[in-house]
Amino acid sequence: MKRTLDDFSDASNEQKSTRISNQALFRCTLGACKADFTDHSSLNHHILQYHTFICQSCKKNFPNERFLYLHIQEHHNPFNSIKEERGEKIYQCFLETCDKICSSPQTRRLHMIDKHQYPKEFLYSVIKNGMSKGQTSLLKSR
Ligand SMILES: [Zn+2]
Ligand SMILES: [Zn+2]
Ligand SMILES: [Zn+2]
Repeated sequence: MKRTLDDFSDASNEQKSTRISNQALFRCTLGACKADFTDHSSLNHHILQYHTFICQSCKKNFPNERFLYLHIQEHHNPFNSIKEERGEKIYQCFLETCDKICSSPQTRRLHMIDKHQYPKEFLYSVIKNGMSKGQTSLLKSR
């Protein structure tokens, strides 16, 4: 008679180790990045590598190219200051894919919240002020 032991072994040996580790992750929330890191120094390294866009005029740092571009347009472009004085709209949407231009940073903020589901706690002033050293989030800390 043939032994059928093999039919029973290995059947229910599957380990159920799907427990998600709950350790505090360091998440980059600059722009739409959302990269996760297990320690603070790797996050800092990541920011220096991917989110260092420095304005040549005022040396402020921005989290991405788009924000640096908008900063220069809104704060160092004399043509835009003239336009603004004439009452023309110069405040472009944060998203390159959207061609909305607003008349003030305040109306742009509303546009971002309304049309693009940006959080109210987003640091909209980053376009003007840039990021401070060691800043890893574009959300206002509570
Ligand atoms: Zn990042
Ligand atoms: Zn600047
Ligand atoms: Zn938009």
